[in-house]
Amino acid sequence: MPVAPDVPIPMRALLAGARRKQLALLDFLRQLVQAESPSDNKAAVDACVALAAAHAKALGGRVKLHRQRGFGNILEARFGPRSKAGPASRTLLLGHLDTVWPLGTLKTMPCHVADARLWGPGTFDMKAGVAIAFTALEMLAEAALLHREIVLLLNSEEEIGSPVSRPITERLAAECSAVYVLEPAQGLAYKTARKGTGNWRIAVQGVAAHAGVDFEKGASAIRELARIVETVSAWTDLKRGLTVSVGLVGGGSKTNVVPAEAWAEVDVRFARKADGARIERKFAALKPTDKRCALTVTGGINRPPMERTRGTVKLFRQARALAAELGFALEEAATGGASDGNFTSALGIPTLDGMGAVGEGAHAPHESIVLSQLPLRTALLAGLLAQPI
Ligand SMILES: [Zn+2]
Repeated sequence: MPVAPDVPIPMRALLAGARRKQLALLDFLRQLVQAESPSDNKAAVDACVALAAAHAKALGGRVKLHRQRGFGNILEARFGPRSKAGPASRTLLLGHLDTVWPLGTLKTMPCHVADARLWGPGTFDMKAGVAIAFTALEMLAEAALLHREIVLLLNSEEEIGSPVSRPITERLAAECSAVYVLEPAQGLAYKTARKGTGNWRIAVQGVAAHAGVDFEKGASAIRELARIVETVSAWTDLKRGLTVSVGLVGGGSKTNVVPAEAWAEVDVRFARKADGARIERKFAALKPTDKRCALTVTGGINRPPMERTRGTVKLFRQARALAAELGFALEEAATGGASDGNFTSALGIPTLDGMGAVGEGAHAPHESIVLSQLPLRTALLAGLLAQPI
């Protein structure tokens, strides 16, 4: 088994190295951003994945492409010595190359540097995180600090719920003792907890009638839906970190018709795993108040919560200690947004998230990253990857 040296991680040298590599990092990052990669465009997202695969090979990575039919390909690249000790000496680095931005977004959101930031679609979420990871791996290889096997997994459909990469992520995570997720930072903080997510659709079938002639023969689907909206919204419990938000509604045909149809789409976030199961049961048990109406309830939980487990806290403390050597007080944060880290954490594997770039505007026109923070983030990730766990 490769043994990590007893000498402390040379954090200051890593920071100096990351500064020297910043221009090369930016160059690679620009290439990734120029390769627009919406989750729903296989050809486009595949081209971006191919770019990353070529880069991984150039760095000596052992590359495997998980080819997909309906979605973009998924890149697995392994660095460092092959682990003979099983999960104990293997780490998973997790990210995605797809973005929420359609092809052509670069015309209105060009990739450019201004105000000490790099702007452009997918910079913050999360191509900068990917570029940081590659740079950290390159630095460690050059400094002979790669004592663990690092598995880099980059998928192409995270922004639409990771339908095909989830089993691959879970399988690889189970072979590792820690998972580092390259999603954007929260402020300057790493993320140690994320809420779970669920989506439901409720369709109400009522009885149509002339609103003037036959009013009493009608059963209003909209009125029934209004009651249901009140019911499910009341399941929100802010103290428990549980929110039920009806985000979309529709229904009816004409003002003079008692509506036969209405529907709602609901977003659910929950901090505790048990609440997810409870809410699922509640949706399944929904009943109409007006018995002439029928309900069709579809949907369910998409991602379990990433709970702040002991293992995750241990990883965070290691990160904080390394950051302190650079004179930086690293903080931790919890968020309502989910990532693929939710899957790995739910398997009980210590997962630290938000290790990518500092910036703002994920999924928004002002998406950008702060250039001055790149060396620190890169050095910190490199230091963690060099650590025995
Ligand atoms: Zn993301």
